[in-house]
Amino acid sequence: MALAEFDLIKRYFALHKPQHPFNQLGIGDDCALLSLPANHQLAVTTDTMVENVHFFADVDPQQLGHKLLAVNLSDLAAMGAEPFAVTLALTLPKVDESWLQAFAAGFIGLAQQFHVDLIGGDTTSGPLTLTVQAMGTVPQGRALLRSEAKVGDLICVTGELGNAGLGLKINQGYACNDPESALARFNQPQPRIAEGLALRGIANACIDISDGLAADLRHILQQSQVGACLDWQQLPLSAQVSDYIEQTGDWRMPLIAGDDYELCFTVPAEFVPKLPVGCQCVGVIEAEPGLRVDRAGMIEVFEAKGFEHFS
Ligand code: ADP
Ligand code: MG
Repeated sequence: MALAEFDLIKRYFALHKPQHPFNQLGIGDDCALLSLPANHQLAVTTDTMVENVHFFADVDPQQLGHKLLAVNLSDLAAMGAEPFAVTLALTLPKVDESWLQAFAAGFIGLAQQFHVDLIGGDTTSGPLTLTVQAMGTVPQGRALLRSEAKVGDLICVTGELGNAGLGLKINQGYACNDPESALARFNQPQPRIAEGLALRGIANACIDISDGLAADLRHILQQSQVGACLDWQQLPLSAQVSDYIEQTGDWRMPLIAGDDYELCFTVPAEFVPKLPVGCQCVGVIEAEPGLRVDRAGMIEVFEAKGFEHFS
């Protein structure tokens, strides 16, 4: 007989008592109980992944568990919040124990890496749907918002752009040397928590790049009521992404491909020396609305939008 709901929760998800001091009661009662330190705000975010929309049935469940949590922690990173707790709502078509074992290993493994406790959730049957709510803290008034970019700020990113996009192309049949690192970026993004924390008091505005740099930067531009020009030659690209662009001519890819989960932020020029290692300045905030891309002196207006459900 398949595992009952409560046994399933116990076996795969209720493995540890909460470790973080803010989590005073975890899985097992009607609610979890959290206590926040004084003068801090609670940052809360939710992301859902649906089979055949965000992933396919044959995805590696361990990587899926990792990615589901990573995309949620990435939103906390983008606010400059420090994660401490998550909840997990699972809708499963059936109880497949080896699938659950691997999924839980990916999810719990990443949670432990960031000292985040799984403090509750819900388990139901239906089409495979995975929802996480992630919680973090930020000192009162110090969160990094999308709405605070200022004209003259430099636009910077963490890490490299386009690796996840290349990973997707590899999954779709594009052949390249050493595909492993691009595939890892697509399947197992690393939330930039440490960088987000380091950017408190330095960055004016911040967002995580889930839908591609152009689409996500556009949210900063709209909410800050400014424009921007990106310098294409400054984009941090891996050798594989550069090769891909050389072979295909698809120079837009690192601007429009999603799933990198790097941070894009704006920073006054005087703070650039204080940036965490691995950040690169790729453009400047301007008063003129819209997004422009400068390619070796040729400036063009960039129109691409991110992925939108229902359209
Ligand atoms: P209730 O019916 O009171 O909502 P449930 O029976 O849904 O409670 O859940 C029992 C306990 O197990 C609760 O503490 C809940 O947060 C936790 N829980 C349920 N599903 C999950 C899950 N997938 N991951 C983590 N905790 C879960
Ligand atoms: Mg319930």
